[in-house]
Amino acid sequence: MTWTPARRKAFIISVLRSGTRRWPPKYETLNAAKTEKKVNPKSGRIAQHFVCNICKQEFVAKDVEVDHIIPVANADGFTTWDSFVENLYCGTENLQVVCKPCHSKKSFLEKTERKSNAKAATTKKSKKTIL
Ligand SMILES: [Zn+2]
Repeated sequence: MTWTPARRKAFIISVLRSGTRRWPPKYETLNAAKTEKKVNPKSGRIAQHFVCNICKQEFVAKDVEVDHIIPVANADGFTTWDSFVENLYCGTENLQVVCKPCHSKKSFLEKTERKSNAKAATTKKSKKTIL
């Protein structure tokens, strides 16, 4: 198995991302979004509910995620390791609890924006090469 620079980078990114499971501000954010313990209509059991910061609906723990309000990879994509780590391990001020559907919509929009920015950058570069 060869470790290309891209593969090595992807590996380190995934290790850093999994470390956020132990990042205290994430749990402070989750705690702050707690609403009440009530019957989960899906299971019929009493469960702690959390409010989504986007649609304001209530969900059980497994249906919410902690999101970076300002994405870890900004609109220009990955810049430096310093800024990546700084953004990933941020304080509660840049974290919010969102439901899975809202999170995937938000992530999709962010991804689309990054892609179009990357495309614009490539177009600029190739124009420069022609000149
Ligand atoms: Zn939502």
